[in-house]
Amino acid sequence: MTAARDATFRLLFEHNPLPMWVYDIATLIFLEVNAAAVEHYGYARDEFLTMKVSDLFLPEEEARMREAVARMPQAAASAIRHYDATWKHRCKNGRVIDVDIVAQDLSFGGRRAALVVAHDVTSLKAAQTSLARSSKRLSVLHEIDRGMIAAEAPVAIAEAALRPLRDLLDVPRAIVNLFDLEAGEVEWLAAIGRRRVRLGPGVRYPLKLMGDLEALRRGETQVVDVDAMADGPETTALLTSGVHVYMVVPMLARGELIGALSFGGARGQFSDEQVEIAREAAAQLAIAITQARLAEAVKRHSEQLEQRVRERTHELAEAKAEADRANRAKSDFLSRMSHELRTPLNAILGFGQLLQMQADGGHDRESVEQILKGGRHLLELINEVLDISRIEAGRLALSQEPVQIGEAVTRVIDLARPLAAERRIRVQIVGAALHPRYVLADTQRLQQVLLNLVSNGIKYNRDGGRLVVGCHEAATGRIRLTVADTGAGIPAERRARLFTPFDRLGAETSPVEGTGLGLALSRRLVEAMGGTIGLDDAEAGGSLFWIELAETTSPDARAGLATAPPPVAEGRRLRGTILYVEDNPSNLRLVERVLAEQTAVRFIPAMQGRLGLSLAREHRPDLILVDLHLPDISGEDVLREVKDDPVLARTPVIVLSADATPGQVRRLVAAGARAYLTKPLDVRELLTHIDGALPAP
Ligand code: ADP
Repeated sequence: MTAARDATFRLLFEHNPLPMWVYDIATLIFLEVNAAAVEHYGYARDEFLTMKVSDLFLPEEEARMREAVARMPQAAASAIRHYDATWKHRCKNGRVIDVDIVAQDLSFGGRRAALVVAHDVTSLKAAQTSLARSSKRLSVLHEIDRGMIAAEAPVAIAEAALRPLRDLLDVPRAIVNLFDLEAGEVEWLAAIGRRRVRLGPGVRYPLKLMGDLEALRRGETQVVDVDAMADGPETTALLTSGVHVYMVVPMLARGELIGALSFGGARGQFSDEQVEIAREAAAQLAIAITQARLAEAVKRHSEQLEQRVRERTHELAEAKAEADRANRAKSDFLSRMSHELRTPLNAILGFGQLLQMQADGGHDRESVEQILKGGRHLLELINEVLDISRIEAGRLALSQEPVQIGEAVTRVIDLARPLAAERRIRVQIVGAALHPRYVLADTQRLQQVLLNLVSNGIKYNRDGGRLVVGCHEAATGRIRLTVADTGAGIPAERRARLFTPFDRLGAETSPVEGTGLGLALSRRLVEAMGGTIGLDDAEAGGSLFWIELAETTSPDARAGLATAPPPVAEGRRLRGTILYVEDNPSNLRLVERVLAEQTAVRFIPAMQGRLGLSLAREHRPDLILVDLHLPDISGEDVLREVKDDPVLARTPVIVLSADATPGQVRRLVAAGARAYLTKPLDVRELLTHIDGALPAP
């Protein structure tokens, strides 16, 4: 029975597919081996039985093995020891295998022995190692990618890749080199030794250390034998850091050799796997570094551009400020000059008009008329220059309000009618259906522009021609006012200069008088009112000027402006006391002379505001004329005091001033001024207003 069981166990032992053996714990000599062990290890059974267990182990593992054997518990029948550490065994043919061992001690023929089952895990372990490696490899590539995506600097990308790369390749030294092909040099981007990373750039060495450049260009790796290299500082440095051989893997980006990944170690061939990993990393690094350099270049470029833009903007701002200053100075000068010129003109025109009234005819009258004509022309010029300079200095005060189209058109045509009649020009109005509607504009300025276009349409028309003033809704939805004539028109090549100040487009050689400022001013005014102005050909061959303005619906009640008073009844004498507050002697004399004709008028001059007020309280005049610019208080203050004084409140006040902005006129009228007359004075207009203000005789 026992013999039969023994035979069965022997069979189980012998045919077990796993290698098994029994050895003497004291001597380590094999006592029994099975067929699988014989086959797996390659030793014949007889050979085995002469060997010791320790003969299977690699020399470096022997000590550990002896320790394990010594620790094996004695005769613990059921205690199975599974040494979980993996051992390395050498087969007869020299192949080293990884084995897991399960051992149990037993008594064998009276000796203390161990029964061993060996499980070859070489391929399992190899698979694990390769898995770990490939995951590490992926992590190296991932590091490079990460740096690239984060748009890090080339040096940061190289640094991030080097540490895992060194560990993966298991080399003491790895370097990312950049080539400076022109200088024939290599520069460190980053290098890693056993302990630390060193970052470049800065360290340079000869390009020839990288091996055959042409081969690198072709993408071939180079293996450089340091021991065979000529003596030199580089060689010494390499050898001291344990590098006897190094490999250079080219970094090619879009076919261009930008550098190389080099790594070195002890003597010996680099494995295919190491080479493959290095090549992958080098390819990835090449792309990442090129990208990063590109990104850096773009960034540098854009910074430079930004800097240039900042500089240019600054320069432009300075130039603009300078130009603005110059322009303001010019406008100020013009504005001041114009104002200064108007004062003497007031005397010329005023006294001229007086002479005209007194002259009986003949040469004197003709001379006076020439003086007046010249004076008026000069006045027109000054006014236009003043307006243009005001607009350019941004000082033109416009008061935008709803202006009834019909009112503006009719008033302008009424003013122009005498001129048209002189030339036998028929004036026609079309589109009157729109006349009850309103445009957004400054009343005075709109009339000024229209008057300018209408008088040009008459001036540059032919005798007996036609002038059509039209109005319709433009495609833009705005209101278009047109002035068309039957004159010669304006040739296309001159139109570009149409709105240039002082450019009369050749009319200066014609008998037609003008300043060349009307259209320039009109354009500025129209634009300041938010409108546009332009020229088309008229159907009749002449010119068709148009302006477009926004339509507006709500006609606000407008502050009453001084409207034209009824004309002085011919031959009527004025009577009453008139106080004139004015600091300019020639203006005072002019009005005094004008009134001297009227023997029933008592004239009281005052050259200061306060003096004027006390004279007013003393003499209770029937009418007060007041200038706005006075040496002590302003004419406006004089007006307000008069209106606040219970005794004087009902005395009419007429303002005479050289400045007439619509806002100012409105303000003074609201403060109680009866009328606002601008200087230079129109003598007839002045008389008419005085007549209207004085009590009826
Ligand atoms: P001016 O004071 O000379 O009339 P404008 O600025 O009003 O100045 O006009 C500039 C020039 O444009 C004029 O000198 C004239 O040559 C030309 N021009 C203006 N309006 C007309 C028109 N309706 N027909 C022909 N030419 C015109």
